[in-house]
Amino acid sequence: MNILLHTCCGPCTIYPLSVLRAENHLVTAYFNNPNIHPYKEFKRRLTTLKEYAQADKFPLVAEEGYGLTEFLQQVVFKEKSRCPICYEMRLQKTAEYAAKNGFDAFTTTLLYSRYQNHSVIINICNKLAELYSLSFYYQDFRIGWQQGIDLSIEKDMYRQPYCGCIYSEQERYDKSLRKKKPKPDTKQL
Ligand code: SF4
Repeated sequence: MNILLHTCCGPCTIYPLSVLRAENHLVTAYFNNPNIHPYKEFKRRLTTLKEYAQADKFPLVAEEGYGLTEFLQQVVFKEKSRCPICYEMRLQKTAEYAAKNGFDAFTTTLLYSRYQNHSVIINICNKLAELYSLSFYYQDFRIGWQQGIDLSIEKDMYRQPYCGCIYSEQERYDKSLRKKKPKPDTKQL
């Protein structure tokens, strides 16, 4: 299949890309992440991904605009339930791009992360697949979690220390908030 892979960053792309390539799919990476802040962090993750795409020779479509305002407009006053909004914001753009550009299917590197809500992501993708008449390629990429980490270290990639938004940056560095953070969604592992 001709698959559009929504990608949040370089390190998280490694394992899902290897799986899709091993199954002989044509893969295009799609970077659309208004949730990454602040600006220098956004640029750093994007630059890392571009360098990886060039080195590993896969096509990359990148939405390069910094989406702080767009992101905040959707999550302010809903901070405690911001993650599903954040997933949908990015995945909706992915499905829309895939439909407009003749892809058979879409998927996302968010399915690789042990720290995202796997079942919520699946539900959103299924809904978008129906809406845009596309296939949603599902695989539990979390089984390759350590393999992806090891390869990203081997490739000397920049590895970010927090999820992306300014709230997650605060949680990463504020010990009192970190204690309250829910455990990773591992129930499907
Ligand atoms: S913690 Fe991560 S998934 Fe949740 S809103 Fe922030 S960037 Fe998005």
